[in-house]
Order: sequence, then C-alpha cells, then structure tokens
Amino acid sequence: MLFIDPELCIDCGACVPACPVNAIYVDKDLPGDMEHFLVINSQYFVDEDATRRVVAELTT
Ligand code: SF4
Repeated sequence: MLFIDPELCIDCGACVPACPVNAIYVDKDLPGDMEHFLVINSQYFVDEDATRRVVAELTT
C-alpha cells in the first residue's frame, strides 16, 4: 500500500486517473466498504510501523 500525506495533498485529483489499478479515490468518492482506508492512510503519517502492521493484517 502506498500512502498520500493528507497535509500535503491539495485534492487536485490528478492521481486518480493515473493509477493503473484504480486504487486511488478522492475521499468523497471512496466506496463505503473502503472508508477504513481513510483512517489507515492518515495514521501512516502518525505511526508508520503500527499502520504497516494493520495493513499486513488486512492483506494476509
Ligand atoms: S495528485 Fe493526488 S495525491 Fe497529489 S495532490 Fe493531487 S490528489 Fe493529492
């Protein structure tokens, strides 16, 4: 998983069509079953190691 720093992102949306696997959403367009990724993404910039553990648990 890659992470986008919400403090640096200007919400231009340019990354959405550029992603080859459609893995990026503007936050208001995020499907309901993926909303937990908003928290996971922002938490990465608070505690990288803890966030990587959470992502590993979700993907194994
Ligand atoms: S390209 Fe994506 S991550 Fe970068 S500023 Fe625009 S919306 Fe944010």
